Amino acid sequence: MKELKYDVLIIGGGFAGASTAYHLAGHGLKVLLIDSKPWNRIGDKPCGDAVSKAHFDRLGMPYPRGDELENKISGIKLYSPDMETVWTVKGEGFELNAPAYNQRILREAEAKGVEIWDQTTAVKPIIDHDTVVGAVLNNRRTNEEVTVYTKVVVEATGYSRSFRSKLPPVLPVAEDLDERDTDIAYREVLLTKDDIEDNEYLRIYVTQKASPGGYWWYFPKGKNKVNVGLGIQGGMGYGSIHEYYKKYLDTYAPDVDKNKLLVKGGALVPTRRPLYSMVWNGIIVVGDSAYTVNPVHGGGKGSAMISGYCAARTILSAYETGDFTTNGLWNMNLCYINEYGAKQASLDIFRRFLQKLTDEDIDYGMKRKVIKEEDLLEASEKGDLHLSAADKAMRVISALGRPSLLFKLKTVADYMKRIKQLYLNYPQSPKMLNQWKESVDSTILEFNNAISN
Ligand SMILES: Cc1cc2nc3c(=O)[nH]c(=O)nc-3n(C[C@H](O)[C@H](O)[C@H](O)COP(=O)(O)OP(=O)(O)OC[C@H]3O[C@@H](n4cnc5c(N)ncnc54)[C@H](O)[C@@H]3O)c2cc1C
Repeated sequence: MKELKYDVLIIGGGFAGASTAYHLAGHGLKVLLIDSKPWNRIGDKPCGDAVSKAHFDRLGMPYPRGDELENKISGIKLYSPDMETVWTVKGEGFELNAPAYNQRILREAEAKGVEIWDQTTAVKPIIDHDTVVGAVLNNRRTNEEVTVYTKVVVEATGYSRSFRSKLPPVLPVAEDLDERDTDIAYREVLLTKDDIEDNEYLRIYVTQKASPGGYWWYFPKGKNKVNVGLGIQGGMGYGSIHEYYKKYLDTYAPDVDKNKLLVKGGALVPTRRPLYSMVWNGIIVVGDSAYTVNPVHGGGKGSAMISGYCAARTILSAYETGDFTTNGLWNMNLCYINEYGAKQASLDIFRRFLQKLTDEDIDYGMKRKVIKEEDLLEASEKGDLHLSAADKAMRVISALGRPSLLFKLKTVADYMKRIKQLYLNYPQSPKMLNQWKESVDSTILEFNNAISN
């Protein structure tokens, strides 16, 4: 079997792997990125394709251009279950042609020296004394099995977790997830019969009836083209997502021409706090595989890019010290938690609460502005939930109708703050990881009990 040596092996070329390669390129390291798919399909996965502009600005990533950009977005319209209340939350973003943008980022990394092999799958890890030292690859283009030895493997295999799932389960980076911490999501891209009104706004329909534990979306990809789909919470026995889609498509996308279907497909989305440790000896995990998705809205492309950026920074500094152990790579955890992970953990708490609400609760809360648009925006940007309105309203409204909802909201805000603080106190070294993890787990358990009463 052929044996090769690289400084870095990136497994998976989706948004997470591609951005790791993009930020590593041009720094003198010998980097190999592989993906099971052929070049023209890399980045092609079921997705709503909406990404906030803020992610590109913050990470210095190029904006999508030409055919990579399908529509410029000015904000989101959020509809209550009874559709009587509509909140408009402003914020610039892009509706992407995701494969085109993804492949451009890979080409730019390649132009700066990153080697890319398509149609190549990492079949198994090579482990030496608790350390990942490489992988066995199956290259279908050349029909060869290749063993690659490397200082660090970047695991960017998406929700499949197809590489790290083959590591010994005792390693923190092999951590599995509870099915209830996932969303099953399905979408189609179709042409519409008429021009889409306000097509620079994404539409989100919150409804437990038509998408339990998730929501319906209608994301215009221009004047006459729309990405429409839904997510439902996994592990709850809610039934087939295709049945929900068929049953409610006419309600949430009455203007689509069902004979003009361009693409369809579904996939799973992790909706929890990030992996407790994204690193171990010789390995860094990024993107969906590291559970980097926003637990409330399920957007994971921006945070996959953040994790790629943090991975590249960590690897470059590990090369300076020559330390690729858990200790030497630990900054990955600190970087990601600081950039996104602490907010994400707090939104994991918020998500658990939202998934328990009834449509009547949501109608009531949106109509009465128990949380206001600004509060929601702040929660989604920072993971902080301020209940100024609810606090004031508490005494008045508790007499009127739903005191338990308001008291629960206060509990939610308190736990969001607590968990965020725990994450901001993430251990500075691996020694304290287990103790810290226990505090997080017990806080979540306590919260689950508090809101189920
Ligand atoms: C229906 C749906 C709608 C969504 N909508 C949005 C949205 O509007 N906005 C948003 O930001 N996010 C959205 N998301 C989430 C988003 O798609 C993901 O978070 C994001 O694409 C994850 O990127 P990734 O690089 O981590 O993983 P992936 O894009 O899954 O990439 C993983 C790559 O690894 C490769 N691979 C896997 N195993 C191996 C192996 N062993 N060897 C070699 N290669 C391997 C795969 O071929 C793949 O190319 C949505 C998800 C779904 C399912």
